[in-house]
Amino acid sequence: MLAIGEVALTPVTRVCSSPACTQLAEFTMTSDYDERVAVIGPLAPEDAREGYDLCRHHAVSFTAPRGWEIIRFDESATQ
Ligand SMILES: [Zn+2]
Repeated sequence: MLAIGEVALTPVTRVCSSPACTQLAEFTMTSDYDERVAVIGPLAPEDAREGYDLCRHHAVSFTAPRGWEIIRFDESATQ
């Protein structure tokens, strides 16, 4: 039986959005098409409508389209 409040502490568990990838997502990437900026930050607590969840592998290997800039809020995503 769950105590009240325990549900709120349940960690977010979503899998990577990359096709065929079953790793747990650790980062959420959002993009601004007008500014041509892709932002990779910590996993969004809720399913972000325009977000793209990425596991560590895909966050690190993510490359922006030509002319785009990538901003990484979590420096561990660059390793
Ligand atoms: Zn992945």
